[in-house]
Amino acid sequence: MVVGELADQADLLVIGGGPGGYSAALSAAQLGRSVTLIQRGGSPALGGTCLHVGCIPSKALIEVAARRNSALEAAPFGLTGGPLTLDLAAFQKWQSGMIGTLASGIAGLLRERGITVLDGTARFINPHKVIVEEPDDRVRYIQFTDVIIATGSVPMAVPGIPFDGEIILSSTELLALTDLPRSLVVVGAGYIGIELGTAMAKLGVDVTIVEASERILPSCPAGVVAPVESRLTALGVTVLAHSTLRQAQNGLTVTTPAGERKIPGDLVLAAVGREPCTSDLGLDRAGLTVLPSGHIPVDSSMRASEHIAAIGDVVQGPALAHRASAHAEVAARSLSGIPSVFDSVVPVVVFSDPEIAIVGMTDDEVKGAGISAVTATFSMRASGRSATLGRQEGFVRALASRDDDRMLGVQIVAPHASELASEAALAIEMRTSPLDVALTVHPHPTVSESVSDVAKALMQRASNRANANHPVHKSGRPSSIRSAP
Ligand SMILES: Cc1cc2nc3c(=O)[nH]c(=O)nc-3n(C[C@H](O)[C@H](O)[C@H](O)COP(=O)(O)OP(=O)(O)OC[C@H]3O[C@@H](n4cnc5c(N)ncnc54)[C@H](O)[C@@H]3O)c2cc1C
Repeated sequence: MVVGELADQADLLVIGGGPGGYSAALSAAQLGRSVTLIQRGGSPALGGTCLHVGCIPSKALIEVAARRNSALEAAPFGLTGGPLTLDLAAFQKWQSGMIGTLASGIAGLLRERGITVLDGTARFINPHKVIVEEPDDRVRYIQFTDVIIATGSVPMAVPGIPFDGEIILSSTELLALTDLPRSLVVVGAGYIGIELGTAMAKLGVDVTIVEASERILPSCPAGVVAPVESRLTALGVTVLAHSTLRQAQNGLTVTTPAGERKIPGDLVLAAVGREPCTSDLGLDRAGLTVLPSGHIPVDSSMRASEHIAAIGDVVQGPALAHRASAHAEVAARSLSGIPSVFDSVVPVVVFSDPEIAIVGMTDDEVKGAGISAVTATFSMRASGRSATLGRQEGFVRALASRDDDRMLGVQIVAPHASELASEAALAIEMRTSPLDVALTVHPHPTVSESVSDVAKALMQRASNRANANHPVHKSGRPSSIRSAP
């Protein structure tokens, strides 16, 4: 039914209710804008990919798998007992309750801030107007002053091998399983493939990872990957590098450097990337041209044009929920006349085993930028807390600039690296010196101590080379790494 072509009026419209969209709506409302948010029905609903089919369900599965696996590996601590059995259907029931509670929390926040939430799919019909297809074939038109596009992304299929929901699954479908497969082929060793492949292996599934490039996690610096590779081997996961899945005449096969193999699994998880949800948005009618990848080009204030901003997974860069919500704040402010740019450090975290966190600049980036840097690495073998966890593989590596004495980057491969990433991000954002981090008292015994330990190692490396006449802090340490020649 067409309700009529008369348009409703909106001051600031947000399309998409994921972490980018709902954060943008909340920020804009706080800035005094009158906000309407459109979220299409079905899955993912309000809360987006992250809440319904991404961050939250994947971390819940990783947690339950880790608990089962810890019990299996507890004999050295003197703990014995039979393996824990996972009732995946019961887990799904618990999980949907947990996600439902979080989704209600988001809806409640939007309500409290007076944000109008509409259920429908929006498409531009001109730069200031969208049509919204609502349930039951109704449509409405909305005329707006400003708009923030936050429509997120969807899983990409392996070329020539579409998802079928039965054998060839996306991450969304894998996360919704109610029975564990006997074996699983994961195609793509990016962070989603590694996280879900590791969890499945810990739940007793026979996992093979197929990756086209030479190693797992190809977008991470090579140095951080080795402890994760060793752990995958210990968990019995087979990694086939330089290999691809293809549809042959007699079914699915894997092409490896050693030749063709029949797919070694009951199910296939295609985790070869995600593509932005921009193709059905009518962006040409909004006067926007997308990049060949489908991403929307934006300037540093997240604007795609004077009154249109785009945020989150529709913008090129790492597809991460915290990046989407950080974009949201900038977009809401810049469309509300408050000068704002996105130049934040975005920690990249992989919930692998051990976890990886990459914050700020890497060695290659520092070298590429021609920055003179001091580097130091602290091995988790020297961490008392890691010893108590029985997990001493990994390290913390840090880089600091010699010229202006500030932390530039931190890479962590360790238990709870995801939790340590925030301290590293704060140090880099605040332009602190390694001395500030080294002299901040960290509680003992914690894995977090390794961040101050690596900063002390940076100071030590600098002081080893220091000019004897350079100033020295009251602690006896050089007062800055600039003391290095
Ligand atoms: C398995 C998996 C694990 C992940 N784990 C992590 C993690 O640990 N940490 C992390 O930071 N990130 C993680 N991510 C990525 C994270 O989920 C995304 O980066 C994040 O959700 C992007 O937020 P967004 O707001 O840009 O888009 P989305 O969360 O995708 O939200 C977009 C919303 O817009 C709606 N929509 C789309 N088109 C329209 C339209 N035309 N009209 C109305 N509504 C529309 C969609 O239904 C959706 O609800 C993971 C992703 C996956 C798949």
